[in-house]
Amino acid sequence: MSEDCLFCKIVKGEIPSEFLYEDDSFVVIKDINPAAPVHLLLLPKKHIRSNNDLQKEDGKIISDLFMVAKKMAKEQGVNESGYKLLFNVEKGGGQVIFHVHLHLIGGWKK
Ligand code: 5GP
Ligand code: ZN
Repeated sequence: MSEDCLFCKIVKGEIPSEFLYEDDSFVVIKDINPAAPVHLLLLPKKHIRSNNDLQKEDGKIISDLFMVAKKMAKEQGVNESGYKLLFNVEKGGGQVIFHVHLHLIGGWKK
């Protein structure tokens, strides 16, 4: 837990948010400023600042994250139409919340 981290506060329920999915390791929320009809944020509960801070022991978190993405894509009905999975890394990469999260973006009209 990082005290000033918005996503840690969301994960801990200190900032009320709708969880589309939760398990021991992750929560999934809707992006507050969606870039597409479906725009979810998949948040590991563990505070990791960015991809640069991943440790070998975090490998399971990252592989499980992609399984959550697969499940959420199906639930949102974008698995067949297709979607983007995106990590922004540090400021130059567009990261504004420094708690690792995976964007799941899709649902564009054909
Ligand atoms: P980043 O640019 O760090 O990869 O993505 C951060 C994302 O978090 C942005 O797409 C932004 O719209 C979203 N966001 C920022 N604050 C909040 C919030 O309080 N609630 C939710 N649900 N999303 C947020
Ligand atoms: Zn955090």
